[in-house]
Amino acid sequence: MSAKVQVPRGTYDVLAEAADARATLESTARRVLEGSGYRRIETPTFEHTELFARGVGESTDIVQKEMYTFDDGGGRSVTLRPEGTAPVCRAYAEHGMHKLPQPVKLWYLSSFYRKEKPQAGRYRQFWQVGAEALGSDDPAVDAEIILLLATLLAELAVGGLRLRIGSLGTLAARTAYREELQGYLRAHAGELSDDVRARIDLNPLRAFDSDHPGTRAVMAGAPLLLHRLDADDAEHFATVRELLDRAGVDHEVDPTLVRGLDYYTRTVFEFTSDKLGAQSAIGGGGRYDGLVEMLGGPATPGCGFAAGIERMMLASPGLPAAAPPVDLYVAFEGDGQRAMAFAIAAEARDARLNAQMELAGRSRKGQLKQADRLGARYVAIVNDTGTVLKDMQSGDQIDVEPGGLVARILRNRGMR
Ligand code: AMP
Repeated sequence: MSAKVQVPRGTYDVLAEAADARATLESTARRVLEGSGYRRIETPTFEHTELFARGVGESTDIVQKEMYTFDDGGGRSVTLRPEGTAPVCRAYAEHGMHKLPQPVKLWYLSSFYRKEKPQAGRYRQFWQVGAEALGSDDPAVDAEIILLLATLLAELAVGGLRLRIGSLGTLAARTAYREELQGYLRAHAGELSDDVRARIDLNPLRAFDSDHPGTRAVMAGAPLLLHRLDADDAEHFATVRELLDRAGVDHEVDPTLVRGLDYYTRTVFEFTSDKLGAQSAIGGGGRYDGLVEMLGGPATPGCGFAAGIERMMLASPGLPAAAPPVDLYVAFEGDGQRAMAFAIAAEARDARLNAQMELAGRSRKGQLKQADRLGARYVAIVNDTGTVLKDMQSGDQIDVEPGGLVARILRNRGMR
């Protein structure tokens, strides 16, 4: 026997039961997001590499080491999308959505690709549900985005949640702060991890993420961006918090909240769940007022979230996995009755009943057992003397004309 071919590391198959739970998650997301005016968008699985290099940021882990990038055969570099915000902003600019009434509110549920080391809750192909609101810098947009993710997680009964929020200010405040922080880090360079020291120029903010003890000690005394916000940014942040309070969304301010993408301005937030292991982040996002312009579009503020499907499912084991009910199972005795059974199942399907027929040559007992396993409401048994309709709830059995069988089920259903 030749060696079995298996799925690539960090990927997985969605089998029937998980598919049902995912369908529940998707319909919940649709209800929550479309109920607030967000419309679905689909962007391509791959984009020009430049979109992410510019949009996500050259200094990020994603762009530096996690992208699946390849030549498309025609000398162009393309990349499997590692995230959804840059593609949505590209689509906004490409389709002139700034001419529509603002904000334009979009949502997606798509697969994303990052060459990360796989572990529990971390995959190389994973799925996110996300929402983006483009074209308004109103703090109520930020609060709405956070509230919608909070609502979705609550509706999915995700347990052990914690919400942290922060503000990164505008690009100008951040640039000045960045220089201050770089000065501070250089003054303490000897106490930092090699990794953090090497990135003082490129990405000093990531030093707050380090779990290296020496670095952590230095960072405990570091200046905080939250204390350097200009008056507009500070007021924007205060309003977002006030709106969250008014809506009863519990949150903690975390002045060191750093996210792995460069494009954020002002509000950033993250939900974690203690039901997850090391990969405790379940979803997050923030405001990205410069992104559309950075991609060549008009200056457009924006704010959004993305949450991981796998982690939502891990932290919400109770997601109902409902297979559709079976209205009719058509059993038959002897090959001569197969065509009649097939015709009955087809007629039932025409009438929008969920119908299945025997397809594996089981004995009569085996067929009834299979119908029972499927939870079929009715079983039709076609034999050479006629057709019997069995009500699996009451156990009643009656002889019926094959032509009247579907009408009878519909009539009985109407009475229920
Ligand atoms: P990010 O786009 O990095 O802000 O991630 C948003 C959410 O997507 C995270 O909170 C996770 O729930 C999920 N996520 C990110 N990367 C992965 C991954 N490699 N595998 C599974 N889920 C992920």
